Amino acid sequence: TPIEQLSFTQAQQEIKDLSDELIKWGREYYEDDNPSVEDYVYDANYARLVALEKAYPTLVMPDSPTQRVAAGNAADSGSRGLAKVVHPVPMLSLGDVFSIQELMDWDAVTTKNASSQQHYNLELKIDGLAISLKYENGRLIQASTRGDGSIGEDVTANVRTIKEIPETLSEPLTIEVRGEIYMGKASFARLNQERDEAGEAVFANPRNAAAGSLRQLDPKITAARQLSSFIYYTAQNDVIGTDTQSGVLARFRELGFPVNADNRVITKMADVKTYIDEFTAKRDQLPFGIDGVVVKVNDLNMENELGNTVKIPRWAIAYKFPPEEALTVVRDITWTV
Ligand code: NAD
Repeated sequence: TPIEQLSFTQAQQEIKDLSDELIKWGREYYEDDNPSVEDYVYDANYARLVALEKAYPTLVMPDSPTQRVAAGNAADSGSRGLAKVVHPVPMLSLGDVFSIQELMDWDAVTTKNASSQQHYNLELKIDGLAISLKYENGRLIQASTRGDGSIGEDVTANVRTIKEIPETLSEPLTIEVRGEIYMGKASFARLNQERDEAGEAVFANPRNAAAGSLRQLDPKITAARQLSSFIYYTAQNDVIGTDTQSGVLARFRELGFPVNADNRVITKMADVKTYIDEFTAKRDQLPFGIDGVVVKVNDLNMENELGNTVKIPRWAIAYKFPPEEALTVVRDITWTV
């Protein structure tokens, strides 16, 4: 039913039903690493909830999936037996859009709210799960998942099995960095083939396989799963001494972190289309899964100026690829090897 034709009571009921459903799907996805619906189904229902809440702002509840990072995630329940880690700087989600026009609209708002003209750093949206890494005097001391944004799970022992993540940095910095843990397509195909042959349930996609493999009590299992990583963020830009997001990535490379090399700086939003077209075409050939492109304000001073909502930064946005593509890629991965 079109939103404008709903009564207040009908809208209230639909908001409750959608919230309950999204939280249930979130539990399956974030807790069990075993979703029962495709991402585009989740996204479509989420978009409907956003639209309903926009039309009825008084019905926005603090525990709505639109107001929480990873709604349905039981970060503090200790369901897996992993220790809890508090994130003093919350680990946020990303706002998402599904068209170039929406990116242009987002650019207009961002440019209006910032005090200078925006340049953007474009990055691939890696289809994995977020990780926080803490280094003290250049040594890795703790790794944790995003959880509900405020409380994550301690996966230090597991992360130490991932070869790409440095135990020691090239400089003795004390810093927390963030990025993505993912499972490459070849490792995913191999894992699912092995599970299939052993009569075990296969993972729905590389993202869930990566999450399931990282959130293990026994690091030996994680070690056997061949996880990879790309690091792309720190809240402590002063520690690494740069004032652009593209500069952050370059410094991360110097420090020894795995950094994806496909980022690109653009000076006007219209140029985003070339990048999106390029990676829509290259997507199948990449050795890792991507589900979109992340557009980030390149000037880190503007990042501070624009700030965050309770759930998402205002200085970045994710453009998500259309669902048909996602389905094709998942099928290709599942049936290769
Ligand atoms: P998200 O995964 O869409 O976006 C935020 C995340 O993107 C960040 O936390 C970060 O980990 C990641 N990311 C990857 N590359 C990045 C880069 N270069 N820069 C910055 N971040 C990068 O958001 P979310 O809130 O975790 O999850 C929402 C999405 O998860 C939904 O849109 C849906 O597709 C999916 N989901 C699916 C189900 C399901 O049942 N299928 C359930 C819940 C969520």
